[in-house]
Amino acid sequence: MTESTATPARRTPEHAPMHQFAVRDGELVVGGERLGLLAERVGQTPFYAYDRGLLRQRVAELRQALPASVKLHYAMKANPMPALVAFMAALVDGIDVASAGELKIALDAGADPAEVSFAGPGKTEAELRRAVASRVLINLESLREVKLLAGITQSLGVPARVAVRVNPDFELKGSGMKMGGGPKQFGVDVEQLPGLMAEIAGAQLAFEGFHLFAGSQNLRAESICEAQQKSYDLALRLAAIAPGPVKFLNLGGGFGIPYFPGEQRLDLAPIGDNLASLAERASREMPQASLVIELGRYFVGEAGVYVARVIDRKVSRGQVFLVTDGGLHHHLSASGNFGQVVRKNYPVTIGTRADAADREPASVVGPLCTPLDLLADRMELPVAQPGDLAVVFQSGAYGASASPQNFLGHPGCVEVLV
Ligand SMILES: *Cc1c(COP(=O)(O)O)cnc(C)c1O
Repeated sequence: MTESTATPARRTPEHAPMHQFAVRDGELVVGGERLGLLAERVGQTPFYAYDRGLLRQRVAELRQALPASVKLHYAMKANPMPALVAFMAALVDGIDVASAGELKIALDAGADPAEVSFAGPGKTEAELRRAVASRVLINLESLREVKLLAGITQSLGVPARVAVRVNPDFELKGSGMKMGGGPKQFGVDVEQLPGLMAEIAGAQLAFEGFHLFAGSQNLRAESICEAQQKSYDLALRLAAIAPGPVKFLNLGGGFGIPYFPGEQRLDLAPIGDNLASLAERASREMPQASLVIELGRYFVGEAGVYVARVIDRKVSRGQVFLVTDGGLHHHLSASGNFGQVVRKNYPVTIGTRADAADREPASVVGPLCTPLDLLADRMELPVAQPGDLAVVFQSGAYGASASPQNFLGHPGCVEVLV
C-alpha cells in the first residue's frame, strides 16, 4: 500500500501536469471531441482512445531534438493496435516486432521490411522462417537461432538478415525494467560473441550489425546518455571481430514517461547532443552504420487515455469509492500489477468534470471481486456521480494488450484511434 490516510494530500508529491488534452466546457477533449460525445461515438465504455495529433506531435518533437541521421523505430509491443501501428509506420523509420504475430501486423501496416527488426528470446523455427521469407532483420538471441537460420537460408534460398543482440556488461541505471547486463535471457553475453560471430560467418548469413537494449522506462537523461555511449563503444569493439561491416547499430531506447507522483518529463536536449556526437563518431568509425533508437511507450504512452464509466458511488466508513465498469482486466498497469514493486497511482481524473472546483479524496475501483482491482487509491478528484467518466492518463502503452481481459468474464474493452 502506498500512502497512509494520515498523510495530508497536499504534502504528497504531485503528478506531472497532463496538459496534452484540453478541457472544453468542463470536459476533457480527446481527438478534438468532448469526452462525453466521444463515448457516445464509441458506443460503449470502457474504452481506450489514442490521439493521432499527439502521436504526430511526439514524433515531430523527437525529430527536432535528435540528429536527422538517427533512425526512429517504434517498438510495437507497447501498443499493437493495427490502426495505430499503421499510423506510426507512416511517421517513423521502422517497426520493431517481438513475435510473428506482431510481424504480420507490421507488414500489414505497410512497414518497409528493410526497416523491420524482430527481437525476442525463444523464437520458434516457424517464426524464423516467416521472418526470413519476409526479408526482415532478425536480432539473434542465441547460437540455436544461428543454426536454425543456416538451414532456413539454405532451404528458402534467401539469406537471413541478422544483427546480434548483445547482452552488454553494463546496466542502464535508473531504469524501471532492466533488460541487459548480468545474467539475462535476452541477447548473447559479450563473452560468448567471438564464437557466435564465427558461426554466423560460416553459416553464410547476411550480418548487418548489433542491437543493444539496456532497459526501459528511464526518466534520467544522463543515464540514457551513458548507456548509449557505452553501447556505442562496445559495438565499436565488436565491429573489429564482426563477420562484415556494421550497417545497423540499434542503441536501444528506454525513454520513460512520467506515470507517478513526483516524476518529471524526460529532458531530450542532452540526449540529442549525445546522439549527435555519437553520429559524428559513427560517420568516421563505422561509416556504413545507421544509428537506430527504438522506443515504445515514449511514442504512444502519453497520447492515450483509458475511459471507464462510474456505475456506483459508495461511501465505506468515510472513504469514497467510485465503482466503474473498467478495471485491472483492461488496464493491469494502472492497477499496479504489471511489474510495479510498490503500488502508486497513475494520473487519473473525472473527464466529464475535468475542471470542477468541487473535489474530494476518492478511490476509483473496478467491478472485479478482488481488492487488486484499483485504478486510483484515495486520490484528490472532482466529486463524481454515477454516469461520469473516469479517465486514466498515460495509458497509450501497455494497456489493452498487456491486460488479462478474460479474468472474471466481464466485457472486453474497445480501442479507438481518434
Ligand atoms: C519492450 C521493448 C522496447 C520498448 O520499451 P519501451 O519502454 O516501451 O520503450 C524496446 N525494445 C525492446 C527490445 C523491448 O523489449
